[in-house]
Amino acid sequence: MGSASRKTFLPLDPMTFSNESKAVIDFISDYYENLEKYPVQCTVEPDILEDVNNCIIPGLTHWQSPNFFAYFHANASTAGFLGEMLCSGFNVVGFNWISSPAATELESIVLDWMGKMLKLPSSFLFSGTGGGVLHGSTCEAVVCVMAAARDKALKELGGWENITKLVVYASDQTHFTFQKAAKLVGIPPSNSRLIETSFSTGFSLSPENLRFVIEDDIKSGLVPLFLCATIGTTPSGAVDPIAELGKVAMEFKLWLHIDAAYAGSGCICPELRHYLDGVELANSISMNPHKWFLTNMDCCCLWIKEPKLLVDSLSTDPEILRNNASKSKAVVDYKDWQIALSRRFRALKLWVVIRRHGLANLMYHIRSDIAMAKRFEALVGEDERFEIVVARKFALVCFRLKPKVEAEDLNCKLVEAINSSGRAFVSHAVLSGIYVIRCAIGTTLTQQHHVDTLWKLIQDKAQSSLM
Ligand code: PLP
Repeated sequence: MGSASRKTFLPLDPMTFSNESKAVIDFISDYYENLEKYPVQCTVEPDILEDVNNCIIPGLTHWQSPNFFAYFHANASTAGFLGEMLCSGFNVVGFNWISSPAATELESIVLDWMGKMLKLPSSFLFSGTGGGVLHGSTCEAVVCVMAAARDKALKELGGWENITKLVVYASDQTHFTFQKAAKLVGIPPSNSRLIETSFSTGFSLSPENLRFVIEDDIKSGLVPLFLCATIGTTPSGAVDPIAELGKVAMEFKLWLHIDAAYAGSGCICPELRHYLDGVELANSISMNPHKWFLTNMDCCCLWIKEPKLLVDSLSTDPEILRNNASKSKAVVDYKDWQIALSRRFRALKLWVVIRRHGLANLMYHIRSDIAMAKRFEALVGEDERFEIVVARKFALVCFRLKPKVEAEDLNCKLVEAINSSGRAFVSHAVLSGIYVIRCAIGTTLTQQHHVDTLWKLIQDKAQSSLM
């Protein structure tokens, strides 16, 4: 019996009924005919692992392969895996302090550790005047801080009817997480500004252009609400100038959020920390240890200067969860810092990663990926058929074959040729209308020889694409 496509879905088609029911009768009569050949009692043992091998693995894209260079990696480690096992083993649901005090306390401690590794100002740390929380993804983090910013602004403006006046800002390189969040918190789509970037600024958001757009909105009677700046954009790894954008945000009273999902991990290295300069002007910042910090999926750190604003926006107080600890206001109830009630004990995983690896090894891991990316960039630069399209800042290299005529789609064909070989996986981006190939180096198992082999593969495929 075949499955019909949706268009031809006829659950009681007379002709199909006649054909298929005959086939089933034949099947059953064969079964009766051969029945004595089967053991009477079933002797089959369920073999899930064999099914995983035969049915699941062939359908996977292997994100942990050393030849995975697409998107941004999700790098794993033994420590991340063991931490995840412990988390899953305990399976506690620490939605409020009393539901698992150690889960909440450890989360607060680990967020402070991580914040200190990034040299965040104490205004973001529990040991200072702020605090942090672990979410599953940047998308959730941005929704939550945008909701906090919205509610603060609506309170000041005097009511919900003012929501149509609120405007949110980001560059056109910002992850779509920003637009999704704006939609989810009720910002009218026409009030989402994606400010154009270009090669001239290395695809970073220009503070002058931002100011221009904000002033225009104010003239139209709108209210600037939120700015999302990125450290390490998804298409090209660009960095928005936080300190200058922060000044504009302060002047116009915008909530400044920094999305450092990918590159935030890199900022533990002193030589990369300068990308965070100006972070003291932000209201919140998030980064994903599950991308480049050897922490298995999922884990997103969010720090906020005024946790009270998050709690004001997201807290609920159902009778069923009331308890003395919460009433005392002396504890953190993380259910009020996120969307869902239930939550995983992710802090355990990040704690194991930090304790097991230590800062020195974590920095070594980042630096070795960057060194491999540097070498790859040099190899591309030495081949006159190719060009580096944007200056590399982290471990992402954006390059392309130089087209011989306008509008050639050579690079798209080259990506298809590389990926269909099954030997490596790269992805692409379009920057100011130009198709570029992205090589993101960072899976845990990738070594220099994998990168050299990738380059050889690219050269071979380029040779055949050009012929
Ligand atoms: N922000 C940036 C800069 C990203 O590169 C990504 C994903 O690659 C995201 C946000 C989305 O992260 P998440 O999947 O955790 O929502």
